[in-house]
Amino acid sequence: MYLLVRFAESDPDVVVFRSADGALFNIHRQNLKSTSDGPFAEGFEAVSGEIVQLTESEETLDVLFTFVYPGVHPILSDLAFDELALLAEAAEKYQVAPAVSVCRMRMIMIHKEHPLGVLRYADKHGYADLMDLAAPYTLASSVRQMRRMLSLPTQAAWADFKETWATTGWPMTADIIADVHSPRYCSIQPIVEQIVETRIKRCVTSGFLDVDRIFEGLADMSTQCEGRRAGCASRLDAWKRALKEKVAAIPPLSGFMSVADA
Ligand SMILES: [Zn+2]
Repeated sequence: MYLLVRFAESDPDVVVFRSADGALFNIHRQNLKSTSDGPFAEGFEAVSGEIVQLTESEETLDVLFTFVYPGVHPILSDLAFDELALLAEAAEKYQVAPAVSVCRMRMIMIHKEHPLGVLRYADKHGYADLMDLAAPYTLASSVRQMRRMLSLPTQAAWADFKETWATTGWPMTADIIADVHSPRYCSIQPIVEQIVETRIKRCVTSGFLDVDRIFEGLADMSTQCEGRRAGCASRLDAWKRALKEKVAAIPPLSGFMSVADA
């Protein structure tokens, strides 16, 4: 799949690595030094003609070592999440800077699809911005599940974060005061309101409110408003604003970390 960097001949300028499953990789020392200031750059000076055993699989090292060489690096979009997670761990462990950067970018891109895995990775490596992105999408999980995944300070912060989301009162139909809808009866209004309320309630059970998704597809319906001055659309706008204000008032996960933990 990716460029496999292997050389048949023995060369003093190369370090030979063996994967956990027995594949050999001959990598130039100079490249290791220029892309990493971690163990790859420092640890193998004295080893000549010996094979360095690594704990990662051939599959992981195959991708990792492509980042040690110049050229266009893979963007990892075709890597399954489990493989990406293993690669990200290896990149961090050996501090292969270009691989660390691409893995982190990729994690940002897929935080909605794999929030738990991304949160675990972000917590482990101290990426607070990424923790904050993924955390809202993990709120359907239990505190017990998080205990197995997160560091102690983050577990505590996550429990507070979840509690705050769970106890937030979300504005419902009756709370939306909109004086722009015409007094004339509109048959669209109760339908649209029913949909929004149902979606909010469904979100509440999973812990997280994705406001944009709640209003998906409703703009079209509200254009059929039978009232004057597009009253349904105005009500929806007011509702959306009210929900967004509530969401914005909740601090991100990192906001629940105590100063002592930081
Ligand atoms: Zn209406």
